Amino acid sequence: MSIRLIIMGPQGSGKGTQAARLAEALGIPTISTGDLFRANITQATELGALVQSYTARGELVPDEVTNAMVRARLDEADVAEGFILDGYPRNAAQVVELDGMLEADGVHLDGALELVVDREALLARIARRAELEGREDDTPEAIARRLDIYAEQTAPLTHAYADRGLLVRVDGEGEIEEITARLLAAVDGLAR
Ligand code: AMP
Repeated sequence: MSIRLIIMGPQGSGKGTQAARLAEALGIPTISTGDLFRANITQATELGALVQSYTARGELVPDEVTNAMVRARLDEADVAEGFILDGYPRNAAQVVELDGMLEADGVHLDGALELVVDREALLARIARRAELEGREDDTPEAIARRLDIYAEQTAPLTHAYADRGLLVRVDGEGEIEEITARLLAAVDGLAR
């Protein structure tokens, strides 16, 4: 059975970790735009060189670049039966673009999962990750910029998905296993 999901949540919400766990449990791949950009930067590809200045500052990569990368990824065979999109769409224009891509493929989203975590817990997790992973964009300035962009551009998208009856809000606080179980229960409850 196919299933196409997006997972939303600010940095520090555990979105990447949970997307990976959910994908494993559901037997579908994740498409993480952040991971795709980081892989390109590490491998010093042309795309990596193009996006590095944006990601390092916590700014969004221009839509044309991001959309084209997602389109190419959606054309790969392993996502034919489903996927979890992690980190995309991140603004209103990307929502429209994704709708167009899926429509062209004759498929639709089954759900949009939002991980809800309060701001204090987010900041504590971000600080811990900055220590552990040493990501280039975990500077205080880039972190603040990413949180602002999420609040201004990405969080409002949840309303668009709620209007379509696709949004499920999931409590993102607690043990990792517990949160995965909540997400799986939410997926089970989706009207499909
Ligand atoms: P993430 O790992 O999801 O926090 O993404 C890391 C960085 O990659 C972001 O701060 C952006 O610079 C870039 N990025 C990831 N996804 C997108 C997107 N959908 N649109 C634009 N830029 C993105």
